[in-house]
Amino acid sequence: MSQSRPKSSRESDDPSGRWEWSAEEIRRIGYRVVDLIATHLTSLPDRPVFRPFPAQLASKYLSSTPPELGQDADDILETFAQEIEPYPFGNGHPRFYGWVNSPPVVMGIFGEALAAAMNPSCAGGNHAPVYVEREVINWFRQILGFPPGCMGLLVSGGSMAALTALAAARHHHCGDDIRTRGLQAEAARLTFYRTAEAHSCHQKAIELLGVGSENLRRVAHDSCLRMSPEALDSAIRADRARGSKPIAVIASAGTVNTGAIDPLDKLAEVCARHQLWLHVDAAYGGPAILSETYGKELSAISRADSIALDPHKWFYVPVEAGLVLVRNGATLRAAFSLVPPYLQTDGKTEGVAGLPWFSEYGFQQTRAFRALKIWMALHYHGLSGYRRSIERDIALAERLTRALKTSGRFEVFEPQQLSIVCFRYAPSELAQRGGDLDALNRALLERVQLEGKAFLSSTVIADKFWLRACIVNPRARDQDIDMVPELILETAQSLIP
Ligand SMILES: *Cc1c(COP(=O)(O)O)cnc(C)c1O
Repeated sequence: MSQSRPKSSRESDDPSGRWEWSAEEIRRIGYRVVDLIATHLTSLPDRPVFRPFPAQLASKYLSSTPPELGQDADDILETFAQEIEPYPFGNGHPRFYGWVNSPPVVMGIFGEALAAAMNPSCAGGNHAPVYVEREVINWFRQILGFPPGCMGLLVSGGSMAALTALAAARHHHCGDDIRTRGLQAEAARLTFYRTAEAHSCHQKAIELLGVGSENLRRVAHDSCLRMSPEALDSAIRADRARGSKPIAVIASAGTVNTGAIDPLDKLAEVCARHQLWLHVDAAYGGPAILSETYGKELSAISRADSIALDPHKWFYVPVEAGLVLVRNGATLRAAFSLVPPYLQTDGKTEGVAGLPWFSEYGFQQTRAFRALKIWMALHYHGLSGYRRSIERDIALAERLTRALKTSGRFEVFEPQQLSIVCFRYAPSELAQRGGDLDALNRALLERVQLEGKAFLSSTVIADKFWLRACIVNPRARDQDIDMVPELILETAQSLIP
């Protein structure tokens, strides 16, 4: 490589070149990494969607000791190619419809690599990455119809977004005392509201915030699994009457089970009437605000006090990428800032400190440059590209619903909403014989998942076990979706003698 020129002091301090790589070596290994990425992404469609990590490798990984001596980069990549890359989670495949996990957009993968190369802390400061994050937040603010005075930040995902937003809600109602004296000083019980269909992260958040899950009310929902505004209103009144202190309503804009959207407009009215905080969990469904079908219904998100949305779901950005927006930025800062006033920045865009630091608005101090992958993906696909892809995901879910209903062998949960389809194999002869459809569908699911031709997950609604497909997958084509009912019918035949 550089043998002909005299070694710089950097190189003589580091004769192995392990800490200070030459540009040539970065390129050589870097291109191998790019080759691995290209092979991985393009070969996935011809491979099983999922296969378990082999037991022999698992026991090796669970019992090894840390490497004492460094290894060559080529060998490390070889091990990656042999042992790790062949056993992915599954969500890069055109026929992966489990949980809410999408394939990564390619520009997002590159954004992740470039962000790591810059490796800033986005705690704050007057460097480019901070402005990229501000720009991305401001884009989502506009997409969701929030006012300019709001503040937001990128976090690990919807769970952290919920914790951050609910901490702001608690602060809003309890004031600074909550930070110094905690809940010990609260005479009244704080209460929060959601339906049984809300994501479990809210219960975790309520537990972490010291409120206790018994004070997280389960408000009744209708047969479409949407929160009943009347039931909410009476729950709040009942709590007030017994001396509790209602704080916030957690509404879902797309539940993870069925894509149900709570009646946001009506819930906003109830919250306004009782002066409660409205948090909207749009982690999964929020991006459908771009769609023709759901745009109007979801526009009421703009009435929330806080919103959670996961770009790592329906914006297909590599994990982790979650977003929290809080209408009143000052409340969020008051809930988290732990900087003496003389260190608080004044928002000048010159000098070293720059705009108010993100670390004053959330729990993390050192923060990743999560914004770049979102920024690149949005620049590359544009809102128009996302709009088309999201509408296609919705159309594919509708297509699957039609096919399942036409076959006459399935029960489909209705109304089908957003890009989620819940269904179960329920041929009339079995249903009449009183066969155990739950057990049969459980067995079907396991067989389908292990066969690797398509990947579904499951859920339980109204005490019944359902297969569940969630399509947040720009790689999925009509023929991929059309395979699903066929696959289940074939698998069912092999299971039922
Ligand atoms: C995924 C999800 C969450 C939790 O978000 P994470 O990114 O997994 O932390 C919350 N609510 C809904 C509706 C979700 O889909």
